[in-house]
Amino acid sequence: MKRYLALDIGGTKIACGRFREDGFLEEKITFPTKSERGYEEISKEIISELLKLKTEDTVALGVGTAGPLDRIKGEVYSPPNLPGWNRAPLRRDLEDALNLPVFIDNDANAACLGEFFFGAGKGVRDLVYITVSTGIGGGLIIDGKLLHGRRDSAGEVGHQTIIPDGPLCNCGNKGCLEALASGTAIARKAKEALLKEEPTILKEWAKREELTAKHVREAMLKGDVVAREIWEEAMEYLGIGIGNIITIVSPERVVIGGSIGLSGEDVITKIKEVVGKRVFLVPIELVEIVPAKLGENVGLYGAFAVALYEFK
Ligand SMILES: [Zn+2]
Repeated sequence: MKRYLALDIGGTKIACGRFREDGFLEEKITFPTKSERGYEEISKEIISELLKLKTEDTVALGVGTAGPLDRIKGEVYSPPNLPGWNRAPLRRDLEDALNLPVFIDNDANAACLGEFFFGAGKGVRDLVYITVSTGIGGGLIIDGKLLHGRRDSAGEVGHQTIIPDGPLCNCGNKGCLEALASGTAIARKAKEALLKEEPTILKEWAKREELTAKHVREAMLKGDVVAREIWEEAMEYLGIGIGNIITIVSPERVVIGGSIGLSGEDVITKIKEVVGKRVFLVPIELVEIVPAKLGENVGLYGAFAVALYEFK
């Protein structure tokens, strides 16, 4: 049976794995990125770990990494969480060292392919994948093909404008979905609430530690009214954003991942409710909206799926 190597590069952690072609994860190695080391040192450690995993019957390596990147050139262009990766020639270096064909995509597209082949996206031809955590990313599979668009910049679902003069987004635009419904956005709203008069348990918690989206969710579950407003508003925006994508793509299934997206049943329920109120031209009763399935291994399965999808 053929085997594939997979490499998932994140800002805090890097995972390497070896898969059988039927999707079985045989071996996995993870180590901290220590991103301050820069590209040269990090790529050396990656290569030495991958060489340990490579077997005689390994046919290709798939890579999921933070973008921006150029899939064809195989270069990575200074992702915010990987300082010093300026035109990093990742594919060339990996191909030279491992003597294998190497296929690269950004982490959100990789995760989308991972869910498509092995997770909650199995069995459909038209799939939208959205991950909601610190930021909001995603991937679009249309008629069985991942949409890359010009310069590999398609599928940036988190950067659609929801409010014309909304809060500033990391991308430079105002009022993006990511600036309204990501974990970072929810935490920002919580900090703003501290300055208002309404009583909230968040004021107590803020004295002990920096507020995050997790605190807002916890406070909401305890019945805190201010926290509930912050959370529900974010989920309303998320539902609007997902409704927009459904209207454009008309997918069979929408898979929701990420720490915020997977924080409870109620997230999916709320998204369905908002989508139901806003989408009219797509037969919404036929669109399934479901939680992602691959859990913490989504990055590694995603990287494997990139190789499986591209290697002919
Ligand atoms: Zn944006």
